[in-house]
Amino acid sequence: MTANTEHSSLLDLPPLTAEHFAAVEDKVASLLRTRCDVVAMQGEALLPLEACIRAAAPRGSTALNVVTGPYGETFGGWLRSCGAEAVTLTAPFTGAVGADEVARALREHPETGLVSLVHAEAATGNTNPVAEIGAVVREHGALLMLDAVASVGAEPLLTDAWGVDLCVIGGQKALAGPAGVSAVSVSARAWDRIAANESAPRRSYLSLLDWKERWLDGGRKALPHAPAQLEMLALEAAVDRVLEEGLDSSIARHRAASAATRAGVRELPALAAYVTRDQDAAPAATTLRVPADDVDAREVVAAALAADPGVPLQAAGGALAAEVLRVNHYGRSADRAVVRDALAALAGGLAALGVPGAADAGDRAGEAAAAAWESALRA
Ligand SMILES: *Cc1c(COP(=O)(O)O)cnc(C)c1O
Repeated sequence: MTANTEHSSLLDLPPLTAEHFAAVEDKVASLLRTRCDVVAMQGEALLPLEACIRAAAPRGSTALNVVTGPYGETFGGWLRSCGAEAVTLTAPFTGAVGADEVARALREHPETGLVSLVHAEAATGNTNPVAEIGAVVREHGALLMLDAVASVGAEPLLTDAWGVDLCVIGGQKALAGPAGVSAVSVSARAWDRIAANESAPRRSYLSLLDWKERWLDGGRKALPHAPAQLEMLALEAAVDRVLEEGLDSSIARHRAASAATRAGVRELPALAAYVTRDQDAAPAATTLRVPADDVDAREVVAAALAADPGVPLQAAGGALAAEVLRVNHYGRSADRAVVRDALAALAGGLAALGVPGAADAGDRAGEAAAAAWESALRA
């Protein structure tokens, strides 16, 4: 038997101490600009998202679920399965929801106890004005739950200043970290309401209250179970790398990647930004519309990846798959060269599909992207 020494950095690690675990939570808290409790849950971001809804939506209560993409649709299913009434506020996926629309919905449903909202949707490429929405929700008195998985590290996220009671993040998007661990901040108000909810999960993998009672309330001295050690270390490394770069410069890099992609795409035939207004465009990913009767978005992605397999392109999922594709310029891909190469690959793919005017569009798109990157950094 021969030992594979390449694996040794993943194995035989000393146990992750409670102190170290708490320190990672504190780093996440600083990234979220929160002084509230942060719980690092041992699973992909869907775990804290579902945990928040099951904790904060008592049976028979009313929740306002804002749907600006597929994650909001998922939340609606969980709310109904909790026995809550889910009032749905849908905004076109090509834009954002307005705080005035949230205010109107809350006036129509004054009994609302929870508002669930996605900050940025990588799948649809839009971002919502959380600061304004947070003020409206706070005035009404409902809890605000925010899915910030696709926004943390890519755009400002001021959890406490915006009045976000439950803020969920994952490591796998702009933080360029692991997908298997995630974190949620919980405000004091949220803890009170969760504790009062008899149907909130207890003694369960989905339980926030277990973390409070078995971990936080004891001063974070003893972990309730063996932590997901590799993922926690990877999350810490990802957060450290962002804090070393500077959160502001990570945010500026993502904003520039979005501006550059949108500017470059204007030079490409047959493609247009799916999100109409620049201010509604998520800094983490740009979605592009392909006129359905001409070409299928999946064919464009396949042809572009044939031109350059390394670029972060993906067909949209679900109902949008034929019409929409994504440029995932988050994490290490929020980079000038990556955006330029993605645009060149799209031009190459369109040319291979016989789209007129595509062959020489790649260079023009690259130049437009470079100029937009520079002016975004100056803005
Ligand atoms: C990416 C993302 C998640 C996490 O989902 P994965 O499909 O596992 O990456 C959750 N919410 C939002 C808004 C996301 O963009």
